Amino acid sequence: MSSEFVVNKTYNTNRTVAWRFVLSHIRHHWFFGFTLTLGAFGNAMLASAIPYFIGQGFDAISEEGEQAIQAIIVICFTIIGTQVLRSGVQFMRNYSAELFAQRIERDVRDELYAILLGKSMKFHDSKPVGEIMARVTNDVRELNFMMNPGVNLIIGSSMFLLAPLIASPLIYPPLILVPAIFVTLHVIVQIYFVRSVHPIAEKVRASFGDMNARLAESLDGLQVVKGTAQEDAEIDRFNSLANTVRDYYIKQGRIEARYLSFLLLGLTFVGALTHSAILYNQGILDVGDIVAYMGQIYLFGFPVFTSLFSLSRIASGLASSERILAIITEETDLGSNPTGTTQPVEGEIEFQNVSFGYQDGADVLHDISFTVEPGKTLALVGQTGSGKTTITKLINRTYDTREGRVLVDGVDVRDWNLGALRSQISIIEQDIFLFSRTVAENIAFGQDEWTQEEIIESAKKAQAHDFIQGFASGYETKIGQRGVTLSGGQRQRLAIARAFQSNPPILILDDSTSAIDSATEDHIQKAIWSAAEGRTTILITHRLSQIRWADKIVVLRQGRIVAQGTHEDLLQSSKDYQRIFARYDEPENGASADAQSADNIAANGAATNME
Ligand code: ADP
Repeated sequence: MSSEFVVNKTYNTNRTVAWRFVLSHIRHHWFFGFTLTLGAFGNAMLASAIPYFIGQGFDAISEEGEQAIQAIIVICFTIIGTQVLRSGVQFMRNYSAELFAQRIERDVRDELYAILLGKSMKFHDSKPVGEIMARVTNDVRELNFMMNPGVNLIIGSSMFLLAPLIASPLIYPPLILVPAIFVTLHVIVQIYFVRSVHPIAEKVRASFGDMNARLAESLDGLQVVKGTAQEDAEIDRFNSLANTVRDYYIKQGRIEARYLSFLLLGLTFVGALTHSAILYNQGILDVGDIVAYMGQIYLFGFPVFTSLFSLSRIASGLASSERILAIITEETDLGSNPTGTTQPVEGEIEFQNVSFGYQDGADVLHDISFTVEPGKTLALVGQTGSGKTTITKLINRTYDTREGRVLVDGVDVRDWNLGALRSQISIIEQDIFLFSRTVAENIAFGQDEWTQEEIIESAKKAQAHDFIQGFASGYETKIGQRGVTLSGGQRQRLAIARAFQSNPPILILDDSTSAIDSATEDHIQKAIWSAAEGRTTILITHRLSQIRWADKIVVLRQGRIVAQGTHEDLLQSSKDYQRIFARYDEPENGASADAQSADNIAANGAATNME
């Protein structure tokens, strides 16, 4: 399986089927699994000591005199001794179980997170965030529950199945008969039970994922929901998903309620009493033996009672690990090419007959070819949806081309080491994402080491220093999630500061935002000019002032290049371009027509002029 990034840590897990995957994680913590099993075994043995000694006590009571009292005292102290030991063993078992489960949960989450970061954007595009979140949080948590109390109780209760099998024949060998029949039938019932619960548990987990996906999406788009007064409709949709989760849980409960082992246990008590009464009549057993024996049978109550619960945990855990494994093993089509080129980037970018589509058979870019010299600025213009952003995503291999090649410094991007390539390209997206960390941390994102002076320097160049100083905590101000406490212009300048900080040879700037006041625009303009200096810059913009200033302009329409050249070239050779600029200069259109005009370049250019 290829991944976009080389995950440094090797997880060494079996990824063929769910139970093997779980086992491979268990293997990493075998020691706690061992102490857990040892503790559970000790606990069961010491628990079965109670009925055994009580049986002996009964025999002692029937004797007379001093000896009987002495025997009772010895038996009492023996029971106390075994139970003190048992509490020590229980401590070891429970502590091991917790360590075991928590470590496995941590490991699986760790592995899954690293794998998720290594997946291609194509993978993430096709998966709702909430669904992924459900897997990383709840499904991994289910694995924890599968270990503790699931596996813990299963091991513990198995010992309680084993103990009577060992202790009963010690009283009188044929007494093994009824416990052996019970254990055999009980195991069959358990296998049948897990098989019936498992498919429902899968549905429970899947429906939970759907519900989570819906929740994440509507919270993410809350503004739209409120803006369009869709609260009631959203609540209805969410309710119906919540109902589905409930229904599957109830279905699971119905299967659990039909658990046959309780009936089996009742019948076992009857069988054991009958068997021991017959042996008593034959003079083979005495009362003490019967008490001890029935005490052993009584131990079966614990596994029967707990297995219902623990087996459900195991079935749910298995269903969850299948979902986790499905993510881990899903092929991703991008390889990180760890042995690829790692040299410093000069900055030449070339597209050679590139075609690309997000979905097979639906290209959004057709036969795109252009070159940008190192250190030069290219402006991409065209209507919304014409493919400008998509072009930029092919440069750092967020996606791979379907046809044709993208070259950086004459080397196909697929032949670059992905990490080396991406670390030398900075993209400032239209929808700027800021982490809910401090301003300084956001500017320094992606760098291991930085100084406060460097951060301030970058912020100054990005025209961001002044507004950052205006915050009560300056550079230590924590930004709200998705940068909501900052205006669009401020977010953009922070992103530019981030680009200054990482000082990439290639800068891609999606400056499509048009809703910015003129003072802010002036700041941003200055920031962009200074950011573009000395590096190859690809600019997506609607602003004619910026387009004019670019070294080269590529005009797109519906995924095709309809014109390209310098501003002067295009003015000379393209009537549409001349028309746009003539209109731009007309006073009545003014600056407000700016964004509009750029879109027109593409529309008009396509209609009448194919350079
Ligand atoms: P622009 O930047 O010029 O507005 P884009 O490159 O964003 O255009 O989009 C070009 C086309 O690709 C559009 O038709 C858009 O719907 C489609 N598109 C963009 N991103 C995706 C995506 N992640 N998955 C599927 N289609 C996409």
